[in-house]
Amino acid sequence: MDTKRWYAKDLQQDEQGVIRFAAELLKAGEAVAFPTETVYGLGADATNEMAINKIFQAKGRPQDNPLIVHVATAQQLKELVSAVPAYVDKLIEAFTPGPLTFVLPSNGRCAQNVTAGLDSVGVRLPGHPLALKLLEEAAIPVAAPSANLSGKPSPTTADHVWSDLNGRISAILDGGATGVGLESTVLDCTQAIPIILRPGGITKEQLEEVVGTVMVDPGLANEKEHPKSPGMKYKHYSPDAPLWIVKGSAEKLQQVIDTEKEKGHLIGVMAASDTVSAIRADVKKDLGGNMGTVASTIYDALREFNKHNVDLIICESFSEEGIGQAVMNRLKKAASQYIQ
Ligand code: AMP
Ligand code: MG
Repeated sequence: MDTKRWYAKDLQQDEQGVIRFAAELLKAGEAVAFPTETVYGLGADATNEMAINKIFQAKGRPQDNPLIVHVATAQQLKELVSAVPAYVDKLIEAFTPGPLTFVLPSNGRCAQNVTAGLDSVGVRLPGHPLALKLLEEAAIPVAAPSANLSGKPSPTTADHVWSDLNGRISAILDGGATGVGLESTVLDCTQAIPIILRPGGITKEQLEEVVGTVMVDPGLANEKEHPKSPGMKYKHYSPDAPLWIVKGSAEKLQQVIDTEKEKGHLIGVMAASDTVSAIRADVKKDLGGNMGTVASTIYDALREFNKHNVDLIICESFSEEGIGQAVMNRLKKAASQYIQ
């Protein structure tokens, strides 16, 4: 199929016209990629099973991995679920629109393949202005996983989406680079105490400031336990070359690099600015000076290494505080080795 691409200049000229066109495609059961504040999403009508199938087909996504439904208002969220605990109202007030997904008991309004047959549904209100305008215009709940081929790093630019999904989806709305750069926090709100199923853009510390105790799914840290979120059992975000995480100083990273270099390998390194400037390697990606820039550039860096055909990627290990928890969660899923 021909994939229609709207560029930033099209949006500058006639934003309302582009949004109306994209909303019509969604309402007609087509799959459309659009920017959110986390990563680009691939959207389709959450109440239309055939439309949702197009997402699974385009991405090659396993059928047992449920999709997050995107809505423009808290009222729309409530129309999809059968119960909303009081703490969810506080979280809606504090963090929406924003990178927080609420898993709540489903009332069955969404298609079966959105929830992968679970009795709960994940819903969020995205903070990106284009995403909100599109959702308002379409006025339907839109299921939207990340707009990448399953297993690849999530897309943070329209070019990333284009290189994965051109010819496989109806349209792409180019809204520039996304902000947070990592996916939303997925929070199980079906229990008395909320449980983080996937760390993301809103940190545990931020949530606890608003609602007190928040738990973390033990399945995230312990390999022997099944994670509660079906998607967390899959290996994800993989670049073409193997990725090793190395914990320790720049000297330690350099030792690992030098040993691998002697074997004739082309080595890529990604790390925060201080570490990167102290290291020698064939291809270097500077992830910036703080954890916010690390989060927003990490997927782009993983994709960039593919272009350079490196044999091995080395990444430094980061502290798991704040957004660092989400960064390390994604890195560990992408990595084949963690050298400590
Ligand atoms: P993605 O859309 O690719 O960012 O992935 C969505 C994540 O949310 C996956 O890890 C899903 O397993 C998780 N998710 C979506 N809906 C639910 C649900 N009802 N219960 C638990 N996890 C969910
Ligand atoms: Mg994804």
